[in-house]
Amino acid sequence: MAMADTTELQRPLGAAEGSGRDTLTAVLVQIVGPAGVSVDLDQRRLHSQDVWSVADETVEIVVAPTNIEELSRVAAAVSAAGFVIAPRGGGMSYTSAYIPTAAKTVSLDMSRMNRVLRIDADDMTVTVEPGCTWAALDAALAPLGLRTPFWGPMSGLTSTIGGGLSQLNAMFGASQYGTSSESVVALTIVLSDGRTLRTGARGADGETPFYRHYGPDLTGLFCGDAGAFGIKGEITLRLMRRPQHEGYVSFAFQTGEALLKAIAEFSRANIASEMCAFDPGLTKVRMKRASLAADVKTLGSVIAKEKNLVSGLFSAAKIAMGGRDYIEAEEYSVHLISEGRSKTGVAEDLDAARAIAAAHGGREIENTIAKVIRANPFPPLNSILGPEGERWAPVHGVVSLSQAPALFAAVQALFAEMAPEFDRHGVYTGYLFTAMSTNAIVLEPVFYWPEARHALIDATVEPQHLARLPTLSENPAATAVVAEARRRVVEICAAFGCGHFQIGRAYPYRESRDEAAWSLIEAVKTTLDPARALNPGGIGLTATSTRPA
Ligand SMILES: Cc1cc2nc3c(=O)[nH]c(=O)nc-3n(C[C@H](O)[C@H](O)[C@H](O)COP(=O)(O)OP(=O)(O)OC[C@H]3O[C@@H](n4cnc5c(N)ncnc54)[C@H](O)[C@@H]3O)c2cc1C
Repeated sequence: MAMADTTELQRPLGAAEGSGRDTLTAVLVQIVGPAGVSVDLDQRRLHSQDVWSVADETVEIVVAPTNIEELSRVAAAVSAAGFVIAPRGGGMSYTSAYIPTAAKTVSLDMSRMNRVLRIDADDMTVTVEPGCTWAALDAALAPLGLRTPFWGPMSGLTSTIGGGLSQLNAMFGASQYGTSSESVVALTIVLSDGRTLRTGARGADGETPFYRHYGPDLTGLFCGDAGAFGIKGEITLRLMRRPQHEGYVSFAFQTGEALLKAIAEFSRANIASEMCAFDPGLTKVRMKRASLAADVKTLGSVIAKEKNLVSGLFSAAKIAMGGRDYIEAEEYSVHLISEGRSKTGVAEDLDAARAIAAAHGGREIENTIAKVIRANPFPPLNSILGPEGERWAPVHGVVSLSQAPALFAAVQALFAEMAPEFDRHGVYTGYLFTAMSTNAIVLEPVFYWPEARHALIDATVEPQHLARLPTLSENPAATAVVAEARRRVVEICAAFGCGHFQIGRAYPYRESRDEAAWSLIEAVKTTLDPARALNPGGIGLTATSTRPA
């Protein structure tokens, strides 16, 4: 965060001056010091955008506490001043989850609360601050031979554990252990008035969380809340020993239906720690994107990961010789990673995967992609742009195993209907599929379209990668087509009763809850955040109560 110096803090502040912004700024400086408060316009604009959208409003202040005591005082000060708090982790979401919807919004930047606080290998827990990235946590645990069961999304170089719990995540470890929240033992939540709320069983000293399930699951209440119930101040996750053995296998299928049926069966068999699959559209993008530089880096990671140099070089040579054309243009491919305590156990899982794939008409292909994903789990987030500098945005639905093929067919039918419009505006699509534990599939259509970049994208992509890409002009008409397509995908997902991660303000949650459930959600909000100072609009909770009288 580019911080303001004290002189900058004293300059005229604009619209909210006189409505308490300058007074609040001074109070926040007292709490976190000048390095933790910014009123710089560029910084405020940056915090008013996410990967998908740029808010009409601009946050008034960006404040970054360095510990939970400061966080608590910041929350109390902001809400007492009549401002709303928008917690922001890595800023890597695309559902307008933390951007301002109201004039008097303070962006709560968690990037300075990024420490791994305590690794307890005896009790198998790790406690982190919410701004700790998944990549940083993994790096801290790896030398100890430890890991969390779910261990990160692919955005984990930048995205945070606090953000991942507030939105829920798919990817590493998820096909075996489920989403991010299933790895949580306990949370320390800071409420909008500054009070703290602690969940889980916490040992004799009351300070050492070790077990989640003690009475109603209060931890779960804050998982997937899009930051609307409370601010995660400390997070304790469960540890496991890092599996000693890994294996990789990839298959190609002729149709999406065959692929999805095979993924469902892989899931039921619970034989992969993670799997991801691509349709032909996304495969083409991946092929186009891969530059020689990226390949060289990737091969280096693959060599480093193998247990000895010879097998590393062998894998790298195989990848280099295998090239990128082992998937036919119109095929669907799936890439599985299995892990376990013994080589034999992993080999048996891979054989089970082979039998399932064969039964669904799959053909085994080079396992390059699976290997590369594992060797470099948290790559730079350059894929936030398309291969020609296009904008990128996914949308997704979490669907039951049995319904996935029908959902896919319905979305394909929508895209066929919209094809003339897509063509007219240069929009193209792909699909990413992944599996969650033994009982759900995530179907994720991805859009690429010609549109100018905004500041958050420039700040995210590596400068040398950005330099290779063309600069595109503003194209609101194409963006409107993508927005409409995303909206209609969400509508289709609703008809299939899908769940969603990253609800933010983009996915309907309230609409699918029965009256009693929504009443409870409203009551929880009113109890925890009576001033409605936290992230209004998140998960459908508006600035005022919408509970039936
Ligand atoms: C290239 C790319 C790859 C991705 N890959 C994956 C993937 O593999 N799997 C996946 O699931 N997602 C993926 N995502 C989506 C996104 O990165 C995740 O949703 C991620 O969890 C966002 O975390 P963040 O720290 O960036 O949160 P932010 O975007 O900053 O915030 C997300 C939400 O969490 C809230 N929040 C943040 N911190 C706190 C806190 N301390 N307390 C309370 N609320 C808080 C915010 O208010 C907001 O509502 C990807 C995104 C990109 C750009």
